[in-house]
Amino acid sequence: MEIKYCSTRDKTNIVSPSMAILQGLAADGGLYVPQEFPDFDLDIKKLSKMSYQEVAFEVMSKFLSDFTEEELKDCIKKAYDAKFDTLQIAPIKKVGANYYLELFHGSTIAFKDMALSILPHLMITAAKKQKSNQEIVILTATSGDTGKAAMAGFSDVPGTKIIVFYPKKGVSPIQERQMLTQKGKNTYVVGITGNFDDAQTNVKKMFNNASLSEKLAQENLKFSSANSINIGRLVPQIAYYVYAYAQLVAKNQIQLGEKINFSVPTGNFGNILAGYYAKKIGLPINQFICASNKNNVLTDFFRSGTYNKKRPFFITNSPSMDILVSSNLERLIYHLTGEDASKTKSFMNDLVIKGEYTISEEMKVKLAGFYANYASEEETAQEIQTVFSENAYVLDPHTAVAGKVYRYYQEETQDTTKTVIVSTASPYKFPRAVIEAILGKSLPKETDFELVEQLHQKAHLSIPTAVTEIMDAQILHNTVVHSDEMQQEVERILNLN
Ligand SMILES: *Cc1c(COP(=O)(O)O)cnc(C)c1O
Repeated sequence: MEIKYCSTRDKTNIVSPSMAILQGLAADGGLYVPQEFPDFDLDIKKLSKMSYQEVAFEVMSKFLSDFTEEELKDCIKKAYDAKFDTLQIAPIKKVGANYYLELFHGSTIAFKDMALSILPHLMITAAKKQKSNQEIVILTATSGDTGKAAMAGFSDVPGTKIIVFYPKKGVSPIQERQMLTQKGKNTYVVGITGNFDDAQTNVKKMFNNASLSEKLAQENLKFSSANSINIGRLVPQIAYYVYAYAQLVAKNQIQLGEKINFSVPTGNFGNILAGYYAKKIGLPINQFICASNKNNVLTDFFRSGTYNKKRPFFITNSPSMDILVSSNLERLIYHLTGEDASKTKSFMNDLVIKGEYTISEEMKVKLAGFYANYASEEETAQEIQTVFSENAYVLDPHTAVAGKVYRYYQEETQDTTKTVIVSTASPYKFPRAVIEAILGKSLPKETDFELVEQLHQKAHLSIPTAVTEIMDAQILHNTVVHSDEMQQEVERILNLN
């Protein structure tokens, strides 16, 4: 079955999977979605005997139908290799009564590695298939984790350059250091004075700027995206939902066909949307628990049907979820409208012009598979402490948000369905928030690297190479610009005039 992708804002804008990956964002400003979902015979029994790489192939081959078996297997092999510190790639751990799907065993110790270790290979393969000889310029906004994971993936990849924008004051010191020490002649990291939403909005503007595209084309360059607006980010993520389910079957934790819940720490809505797509192809999922931090715009949306971005922006201890405009929600909205591109477009226009939109009652009914709530900073710290003292298991703050919100869900619904908490980062990426929560006191004098050592001693958890290798690595990037000057900076980097 051949799968094509169309834009959420124009159903007549139809492209092949490889073209969708190459473009990143549709020219009309919409996001590419599958025109129809692949016909799937999810043979869980068979999948439960497979390795991560094999499951990834089964799932991805259906969505990327213009990739040959050889091409896709080659991409998968290059992506999910010894960069991961476990052969299982995405191990699932039982802690207390819950299951944690650990997605942080890749080279940058956050779940972004699951998709970004394969995206560069998919993109280069896609470029070859499209016979494109233009150099690809990856333009990326990051709330902390995407930037490093994308640069690690694209560093020194021939035919590509990557430019990352991050909020100078909105990432953890370890996240910032990971980015600023990034090697590779084709990597550029730029801090901005605004927040993640400013970075993302201005990146999207550059994508949609026709005269800028023309200037690029004259230099034989072309933009693409490593953010989860690129369908090439979402498709690899569907695989770990299927793998998690198959592993629970393999370990006799659930019966074949038994429904399970997933609690997902959510920012740009990419991770949870991949789960929704897994459900669409038949994975037995009961509820998605959409967990937010104090930036709880999604909680309000799922409860009221109104998405309202006019609210204060908070910097929290779970910075990768500090987002007020969740890009991938546009894809869900499109599906909720019954695949109506003009309605979707008008909601998105309202969001830009009025700062809000309200979905219809009919659409709201279709949100029944989602429960949403949020955890404050104190509640997040409390969750880290509780799980550590009860189970000697250390959560990073993002995962703790998902754990806490799952407790609220259980209290409210008494639902006893088995639940997987999606673990998105290693605690070592956020040592301050984690050790302060465990010890119940603030440690203002210690540097993050000293806190890494304290965490190591307290938790008896080995320190990942991703952290030790940046401790005394040289800072290679130091540019900071105003968020209004991002385009000028891109033009300067690319020598466009
Ligand atoms: C990016 C990120 C999230 C949010 O994921 P989305 O796909 O943007 O919803 C959560 N936790 C961590 C650690 C992340 O890096």
